[in-house]
Amino acid sequence: MKMKANYNCLDVLKKPGPPVIIAAAVREVEAIIKACLDSGIVISALCDSEKRKSEKKICGLEVVHTPSLPERFPNARIIIAYHDIQKCLDPLFELGYNEFYSPLQILENYEINNHNYQISNLFMKEKIEVNKKSHRFYFDGDKTYMRSLDVMVTTKCSLKCRNCSNLMQYYTDAKNTDHQEILQALDKLYKNVDHISEFRVIGGEPLMNKGWADVVNDISKNNPTAKIFVYTNGTIAPKDDQLESFDKKKVNFTITDYGKLSKNIEKMIEKLDYFNITYNRSPPENWVDCSRIHQHNRTPSKLKEVFKECCSTQLYTLLNGRLYTCPFIANAYTLKAVPNNQADYIELLNETNNLKIKLKNFIKGRQFFPACDFCDGRPYDPSSSVGYDGRGMIEGGEQVSKPIPYKIYS
Ligand code: SF4
Ligand code: SF4
Repeated sequence: MKMKANYNCLDVLKKPGPPVIIAAAVREVEAIIKACLDSGIVISALCDSEKRKSEKKICGLEVVHTPSLPERFPNARIIIAYHDIQKCLDPLFELGYNEFYSPLQILENYEINNHNYQISNLFMKEKIEVNKKSHRFYFDGDKTYMRSLDVMVTTKCSLKCRNCSNLMQYYTDAKNTDHQEILQALDKLYKNVDHISEFRVIGGEPLMNKGWADVVNDISKNNPTAKIFVYTNGTIAPKDDQLESFDKKKVNFTITDYGKLSKNIEKMIEKLDYFNITYNRSPPENWVDCSRIHQHNRTPSKLKEVFKECCSTQLYTLLNGRLYTCPFIANAYTLKAVPNNQADYIELLNETNNLKIKLKNFIKGRQFFPACDFCDGRPYDPSSSVGYDGRGMIEGGEQVSKPIPYKIYS
């Protein structure tokens, strides 16, 4: 029986007792801290499994690196701010804590606009809405929920980053994904998953697929309340009629600025401004080494550890009619860089029986996937070697002149 978080927390956390700690230092934590203060709950500190997050205070509160939490606070009542409650709770339980709360009740009547944050109030509102939705589904065990779905519209990319976590550097015959196939697979997901909060249209470079905007519009038509993010490297300027078609839709751009390589970034931004489409532009930073494909022959307990430490276990990825748990496995399969094992994916196009149950088990029940044995891991804390065989933080954006060779499985 798993340790679970409690919903009712307002009265109990206001009472004197062990210090109240918030896990983890996510974007929306500022609002959760302020909601606690408004409710009369005193927070002693935050904790986060990423060591670098302990370098800065948040709202004047210290962020303790989670492995050191028992030294600082041997007893604590812990509010889980992370969207995936169980993923955050399990390692804390292993550290000896046994009192956990969701902030849902605290946030029920919280007025976001009564406070200011490091991020805009609009962005905070969206983060809190998604967080609340994830936590509501946690308490409703029968339903299946995806916080986000990566829809891969192509494996072509206009850049070839040596350490691309989506494995573009290995492709010798990258292809666009068939539009109808994407729509059919999405339709299966709409019918069998209770809610998807966010869609991320990705590649490679999604704009390499001329039909990318049609996919965005189809997703928007079927999910008018969901946010859609187009992840781009700024090498290709979108067409005016494509951007115009997103009018009044929840479409946003996330642009990685590779400097001179992002040769059309200014043109792209000019157009996004003109068509009033929101975007975020940032350099290729915080890259973690996680793109090597190599069999480790790990034991099941070691695989569980890699999976437990991994920050990408719910980066659900749709590629060529299959649902995978992360882009690494999705692309490793498309590259035939791992041996076929049906436990690694859900076949959406040919599957007719028990799809709802299969998806529920896929989303809720996994402790690792066989293909994780071919991955170095993608940990929350890349400075630790627990559940991780990579090199830690690396420079982003370095290019290769030709595809990197790898072992192909027939
Ligand atoms: S721009 Fe670089 S990191 Fe992004 S998908 Fe292309 S190769 Fe990968
Ligand atoms: S450890 Fe597994 S889930 Fe995590 S990125 Fe690697 S293959 Fe994906």
